[in-house]
Amino acid sequence: MTYKYDAIVIGAGPAGAACGMELQKNGIKNCVIDKAVFPRGKTCAGLVTGKTYKLLEYLFGEPPEELFCFTSSQIRLFSKQRELVAAPIKRPVKLVNRYDYDNALVTRYKELGGELREGERGYKIDYKANSITLSNGDILSYDTIIFADGALSQAHKLVNVPRSKLAFGVEAYIPSTVLNTKSVDLYFDYLDNGYVWVFPHGDTVCVGAANQYNKKEDYQKILDDVLRDLGVTGHEYKTVGAFLPYGYVVPQQKLPQNVLLIGDAGGFADPISGEGLYMSMQTGIMAAQAVLTDSPKKTYLKSVEPLQQIIRDGKRAQKMFYQPAIHKKLFGRVEGNKRFVSFYFENQVDEYRYTYRQIKQLYNYYKSNQ
Ligand SMILES: Cc1cc2nc3c(=O)[nH]c(=O)nc-3n(C[C@H](O)[C@H](O)[C@H](O)COP(=O)(O)OP(=O)(O)OC[C@H]3O[C@@H](n4cnc5c(N)ncnc54)[C@H](O)[C@@H]3O)c2cc1C
Repeated sequence: MTYKYDAIVIGAGPAGAACGMELQKNGIKNCVIDKAVFPRGKTCAGLVTGKTYKLLEYLFGEPPEELFCFTSSQIRLFSKQRELVAAPIKRPVKLVNRYDYDNALVTRYKELGGELREGERGYKIDYKANSITLSNGDILSYDTIIFADGALSQAHKLVNVPRSKLAFGVEAYIPSTVLNTKSVDLYFDYLDNGYVWVFPHGDTVCVGAANQYNKKEDYQKILDDVLRDLGVTGHEYKTVGAFLPYGYVVPQQKLPQNVLLIGDAGGFADPISGEGLYMSMQTGIMAAQAVLTDSPKKTYLKSVEPLQQIIRDGKRAQKMFYQPAIHKKLFGRVEGNKRFVSFYFENQVDEYRYTYRQIKQLYNYYKSNQ
């Protein structure tokens, strides 16, 4: 059988599902293809900031409470095990378990009438014919193809994306009877150019580490060291790992006109925090809206430009942040400074009210309001 779509989305994670929902809302004939069958897990610490929550409100109306496994109103920063600061967060952050979160997103897409083709493997894409041949012989033709298949997107075969430009993260889930925290805890100085997190997830605590990908890095040892320092010994745990973007914007202009990349596939994640849920869903919505126009690629590339600027500026800030002298100086400034950390979290991390280019303005504004 042959089927014709205006847009086909490859990957039904947050980027693909958000894109599919927006396509459905606008009456664009589409389908979303995923190799996995939902629900499925995904390596992710699951921190949902205010800006991500707003996108959930846009997509769901009232986001269902079951999406969230914990809500925290405090952030703590550590240098190894030395607590630098414990700062309150005015608008508490949410934590999600990706097994449930991603399932809720694809369920919503299907409720809107979306066509999810899950468990699809072995399909072939013909970029010249603008069609996909599935393993059962069905042919799906498209006007636009949107890749949302993650940090190791198959579209990267068309443009070179070296793994050295990505980050790699590992994590383990520890029962909260063994390790407990109620705050969002970030530990620095266990890794060069990266950090360790300990996030509450309800019955479990997510302990993870991520930095610029280096195949020689012994991530298992890092997690072992962190857990030992946190007093968790003799507890068997399973580790999972995954790549994530780390400040490299995939050059989409080099791809065919009707090929768009969203979410991790396009390199869309914050290069300092590693937060990818926001940009994934945002670029998914932007791509769907671009498909409505006469020149989807041009429209899409224009709409993602501010996000790409955040990534480029953030990459520069990341390089500076991890230089030992600067890092030490910054930690000197934040140590014990609850008010500044709360202010920074609320205005930069939670909302992007200030971009990485505007950090100086943020600091001046903070000082002038003391
Ligand atoms: C260790 C770690 C911790 C993180 N913590 C956070 C956090 O706390 N907060 C945050 O905001 N972000 C976090 N991120 C980033 C976040 O997980 C990603 O940015 C986000 O998942 C990207 O969404 P996506 O839809 O682009 O890709 P994904 O979530 O990776 O989804 C890709 C989808 O494509 C499918 N797929 C892959 N290949 C194919 C194929 N060939 N054909 C069909 N389907 C395919 C997959 O099955 C999957 O469903 C973290 C990432 C890592 C690695």
